[in-house]
Amino acid sequence: MPASASSKYRPETRLVQAGTLRSQFGETSEALFLTQGYVYDNSAQAEARFKGEDPGYQYSRFANPTVSMFERRMAEFEGAEAARATATGMAAVTLALMGQVRAGDHVVASKALFGSCLYVVEEYLPRYGVTSTIVDGTDLDQWRAAMRPNTKTCFMETPTNPTLEVVDIAEVAKIAHAAGATVVVDNVFSTPLWQSPLELGADCVVYSTTKHIDGQGRCLGGVILGSDKFIADNVHMFLRQTGPSMSPFNAWVMLKGLETLAVRVRQQTQTAAAVAEALAGHPKVSRLIYPGRADHPQAAIVKKQMRAGSTLVAFEVVGGKKGAFAFQDALKLVRISNNLGDAKSLITHPATTTHQRITQAQRNELGISDGMVRLSCGLEHADDLIEDALAALKAI
Ligand SMILES: *Cc1c(COP(=O)(O)O)cnc(C)c1O
Repeated sequence: MPASASSKYRPETRLVQAGTLRSQFGETSEALFLTQGYVYDNSAQAEARFKGEDPGYQYSRFANPTVSMFERRMAEFEGAEAARATATGMAAVTLALMGQVRAGDHVVASKALFGSCLYVVEEYLPRYGVTSTIVDGTDLDQWRAAMRPNTKTCFMETPTNPTLEVVDIAEVAKIAHAAGATVVVDNVFSTPLWQSPLELGADCVVYSTTKHIDGQGRCLGGVILGSDKFIADNVHMFLRQTGPSMSPFNAWVMLKGLETLAVRVRQQTQTAAAVAEALAGHPKVSRLIYPGRADHPQAAIVKKQMRAGSTLVAFEVVGGKKGAFAFQDALKLVRISNNLGDAKSLITHPATTTHQRITQAQRNELGISDGMVRLSCGLEHADDLIEDALAALKAI
């Protein structure tokens, strides 16, 4: 399927077909080109390739056919002109930010970020002379007030980890663009199926493909998407010269993951909605957050910018940390793990794991109480998960 023709197909079709390159053997399934380098027919071809006059491959840190297929399929699915795959989600986030800034620049980021993302903004950017302002992403006035003449980019995650708050991408994009800044959205929690930040005005979307894109808990990976210009100006050379490239093997796993992404994520979202419905109002559940429910704190924004909720549900059980531990330990089917987006349902207690390094005061500010757990719904039957959760609530 030529790249130019594929945008006429629906997302599900693009996930299966877009970007496929076939070798001379005509294989049905995408080939795994597990190679570091490429040979040239003669010296003149090698010279032309290095001059950029011959379109072939040179070295797999720069590009590889299997990785290219994955990048093309992601770009077609996301509706982006260009994509670059990276070794992990954190490599994608770091590159998307570091590639844009110079010493003296300023970055605005929402405070409810994946822990390592916040670390990059608050600990690493300052070492290179880049200052930052951390805002409550749900408060547009804070974004407005944070803009400075040297603000280069605005970075957010929505829905956020682990409280599933929602940031208004289109409104933040207006504020950022008026100030001459770009917008980078970490779209992991909604997946490319349910939210398209580029259509809402973002300049760049990043994923940890470790999550729903692999979807079966196997490989780490990341991807950065944007316009040809954004990728050329900020990402292309930085990735090639510093080297956090995706391995061909991981790209092959991710490509096969994309083929089933729509069916998996649709099913997991339905399951999460059913679990949320079953647990909301339970006497041992003091608070429940699920994008897509009418009682979500930003329900109107969810409706405006997301096509569906999430495969994750956040809820607070009674009894604080003790209650949360009793609940998690009593689960038989759902396993305790900080990962998410897997075919297997996983639960985590953010206060003692992913968010234990920050202070109690910071956790309070983020709404991460000691009783809060984050459930990533997998592909098990919804009724089995609900029965598991309801039985475990009795242990509190
Ligand atoms: C997991 C995750 C990351 C980091 O991805 P890795 O693949 O673990 O490096 C970044 N942002 C969000 C929202 C994530 O869930």
